[in-house]
Amino acid sequence: MKYLTLSFDDGTIQDRRFVKLLNQYGIKSTFNLNSGLFNQRHEIVHEGIKVCHDEIAPEEVHDLYAGHEVAAHTITHPNLLKCSREEVIHQVGGDAKALEALCGYPIVGMAYPGGPFFNDDIIDTILTNTSVRYARAVGSHFTFKLPERLMEWYPTCYLHPKEYDRLMVLADEFIALETEEDALFYLWGHSFELDKFGNWDDFERFCEKIAGKSDIRYVTNREVAAIVRGE
Ligand SMILES: [Zn+2]
Repeated sequence: MKYLTLSFDDGTIQDRRFVKLLNQYGIKSTFNLNSGLFNQRHEIVHEGIKVCHDEIAPEEVHDLYAGHEVAAHTITHPNLLKCSREEVIHQVGGDAKALEALCGYPIVGMAYPGGPFFNDDIIDTILTNTSVRYARAVGSHFTFKLPERLMEWYPTCYLHPKEYDRLMVLADEFIALETEEDALFYLWGHSFELDKFGNWDDFERFCEKIAGKSDIRYVTNREVAAIVRGE
């Protein structure tokens, strides 16, 4: 079977428009949220471009992400390599618990804040002390392989202009792919970057292209993780 899943970080207000698009096309995503940053209002400069990074309200979480998956992204988005073991437990486990209270289901996944800031000790601490069982990292492999290690789960592609041409080619390849084995297209990004680069239309073209295929299942990260574990 072929699976498409998305993973989007930070819970900014652009998720409202993003989720609407996904729902229109029947595409599922996992949303990695910082429970300590809800309602924060700020403009950031990201890669030299000013963009709104206002975060949604906690009261929105349940309904906005219904039908998708909510996962952890730590309470306040620190570099985990600079955190003590206790701080890692607090940041990851505390975020998972806060989000569980808002969503009404156990939080089993996360995305590492800032991308590459994790190591084996952090993975061990998370597995031993929290409900999190898979974690997304940053760094595209541009293939359709399933993750070998769920706590070091690298995506197929990043929703960013620097990978955009590649994304559309990969989408065509994935649609054409005929395989007896499981194949996964895993796209990650931030919805605020669609404002940053003004390329909502480009993302919609991707959705149009890949949606509604009878041989593709549109799933959350949690569903893929269960398949990887043979559940
Ligand atoms: Zn983030």
